[in-house]
Amino acid sequence: MRGLLFLGALLLLLVVLWPMARRVLLPPAGRPRAIRDELVKDPVCQTYVLRSRAVSREAGGTTHYFCSRECAERFSE
Ligand SMILES: [Zn+2]
Repeated sequence: MRGLLFLGALLLLLVVLWPMARRVLLPPAGRPRAIRDELVKDPVCQTYVLRSRAVSREAGGTTHYFCSRECAERFSE
């Protein structure tokens, strides 16, 4: 009977602590992706897009990011 009570307390502790533990353990893995996924400005239509989803074109040594291929093509014209 005491063993069952101990097990119940342990389970309760796990349920309470797990969200906290997850919050502590997850940020180091999530933060670098957030930095890489910064917003970049489309110079053609002035829209902000996520770098990971943007269409990139290199021109004059710098990389430009666009919301779509249409904007990238309009930029290089
Ligand atoms: Zn655009």
